Amino acid sequence: MAGEPQDDCLFCKIVAGRIPATIVRESDTTVAFRDINPKAPTHVLVIPKAHYANAAELAAGAPDVAADVLRETQAVADDEELDSYRIVFNTGSGAGQTVWHAHAHVLGGRGLEWPPG
Ligand code: 5GP
Ligand code: ZN
Repeated sequence: MAGEPQDDCLFCKIVAGRIPATIVRESDTTVAFRDINPKAPTHVLVIPKAHYANAAELAAGAPDVAADVLRETQAVADDEELDSYRIVFNTGSGAGQTVWHAHAHVLGGRGLEWPPG
């Protein structure tokens, strides 16, 4: 069911503490941790603790938590002293989504070209 932990989900396992991660922030509804394969000096993933497959499903199923995720991206940027940063929600395999638990990438600490490749 939407929002329920999934046994086969990597990020649900990180939320449950079953897989280690470098957690930089945690709230009642969210966790933020460093990406294992960083694409920028700061590359943090902000996820809802509840399982939703992507950002749109999160926004539809738990809009308050979607807002919490966005607030936490700003908090990460503040913690990392980023004046400019990018928030990315890859949605669908064609866009590079590989983990089917909603997550915001917070990227910063280097120049970020626009549009991205
Ligand atoms: P996506 O490609 O789905 O938008 O992003 C998934 C991200 O999760 C990738 O940037 C990938 O490097 C990261 N990732 C995959 N496995 C792990 C893991 O076990 N730990 C952490 N911290 N990040 C992971
Ligand atoms: Zn999950």
